[in-house]
Amino acid sequence: MPRVKDNAFIINKTDFGESDLIITLFSADRGKISTIGKGAKRSRRRFPGSLELFSLVTFNGFIKHPLALTRIDECQLIEPFTDIQEELRSYFCGCYFLEIINRCCAERQANKALFNLINDIFTFLATIPHNRNFNCRIRLFELQIITLLGFKPQLSCCLDCGRELDKGRFFHFSPQTGGLVCEYCQPRHPAAFTVSRGTINMLNEAHRLDNELRNKLNFTPQVEHESARLCRALLRWHSGCEFKSLKIMERYSENELPIATPGPTMTTGKILGQNQHF
Ligand SMILES: [Zn+2]
Repeated sequence: MPRVKDNAFIINKTDFGESDLIITLFSADRGKISTIGKGAKRSRRRFPGSLELFSLVTFNGFIKHPLALTRIDECQLIEPFTDIQEELRSYFCGCYFLEIINRCCAERQANKALFNLINDIFTFLATIPHNRNFNCRIRLFELQIITLLGFKPQLSCCLDCGRELDKGRFFHFSPQTGGLVCEYCQPRHPAAFTVSRGTINMLNEAHRLDNELRNKLNFTPQVEHESARLCRALLRWHSGCEFKSLKIMERYSENELPIATPGPTMTTGKILGQNQHF
């Protein structure tokens, strides 16, 4: 009976009987794993406050059968990320990312880069929820997580006819093909929607940004809107479902006051200084 010990984030948990919990973890070496915590609701010695959503923990357990739930015996807290739960905007965004991992990750497929990205996302949500480029950072995290899940959008030419991106042409994004289609091919892709050249350039450039620039960057409202629409259409297509947490997050964002004082703005693939606009 192979024993396991690993670091993991608490991604989901549900009651199971009077004292057990079904706990979904995203672990450093095994990716997403469904586990059962026997007596987890009662034992404070083996599970000392370590089962809250977003928490980073070390767990001990064993795998009885490859198809069975991994049984965990104890769970020790490393980092609770409690501040995420105390700020509504961070909490709703955090739940959205948890749902992406829950719905889009296959079981027991190690993805160390995704584990590290989850750590970056939770650290961001726990420490700087009032950051002035909060929405831009969330868009960049969406793009990063989509890329690490293997859904990176193809944005260099029309995936139908191969036509290059030309100035003056309209391009559309087709979630079904995972990339762009030109205006001539668009009628064959009824779910495709228009995406501007600025957003295409931004998404192509975003993969090359370092963390320092990510923290300073801000998007125009159009780029932000189109980027969100594109990423969410891709996630919906690959998962086959609507994300409940996304609706709640969007409803909350609609009621928010706009965030003032934009930082550097990216519109057409170039970083522009403050107060510069196209
Ligand atoms: Zn085409």
